Amino acid sequence: MAVSSIRVVIASHNHAKSREIVQLLTEGLHDLSVEIRLLADYSNAPIPDEHAATYRENAAIKARACAEFTGQIALADDAGLEIDALNGQPGLHSRRFAGEQTPFSVKMGILLERLQAVPNERRTARFRCAVAIATPEGNLYTFEDTLEGRIAHAPRGTYGFGYDPIFYLPALGCTVAELPPEFKNRISHRAKVMRQAIPKLREIIQARLQRHV
Ligand code: IMP
Repeated sequence: MAVSSIRVVIASHNHAKSREIVQLLTEGLHDLSVEIRLLADYSNAPIPDEHAATYRENAAIKARACAEFTGQIALADDAGLEIDALNGQPGLHSRRFAGEQTPFSVKMGILLERLQAVPNERRTARFRCAVAIATPEGNLYTFEDTLEGRIAHAPRGTYGFGYDPIFYLPALGCTVAELPPEFKNRISHRAKVMRQAIPKLREIIQARLQRHV
């Protein structure tokens, strides 16, 4: 049977995050016959509970649910901000921190207030990101990476999303929100983990394309 392309569905309802993933997948799969879709393109798409104990498990829950629902290869990520001086908080609870509907300006304000007396050298932090790839046959692959930095003393920059305005990169002398999107997408935690995940995804897609020649 001949198929024109293999579909990969991004299992996220977060538009800013999906945009970054689409960009990374478009580059990483550019030479393959692949159609990249968002879960939001499907009506009644499930929004799974993300209350697992690790980023990898949360990403796996989302990818599995999406592969089952769509019958396609699914890719999901789960990310969080870990601040050392706050014992790794907000961490796995980054999205729900201070309330799910609370604007990020308020969430960041709360974190900055808690870190008011903390000097630069102890403001170390990282974005951690896990990616899971699930196939409709039930195979699952997970990957994880981080971006190290420090928490700034005030939000700066308008690019990006979430906690980007307070995440300072000492080597670049700016926050992630001051980096144009194409630059963030080369150095971010998400870019780093996707560089691990894309070879496996290519392998899965190539096997399917060959099967259908
Ligand atoms: P989740 O992976 O969608 O559950 O995201 C967890 C939380 O971390 C959300 O509040 C996101 O806005 C935030 N977050 C995830 N990725 C990033 C990022 O690349 N920059 C800033 N914040 C992020």
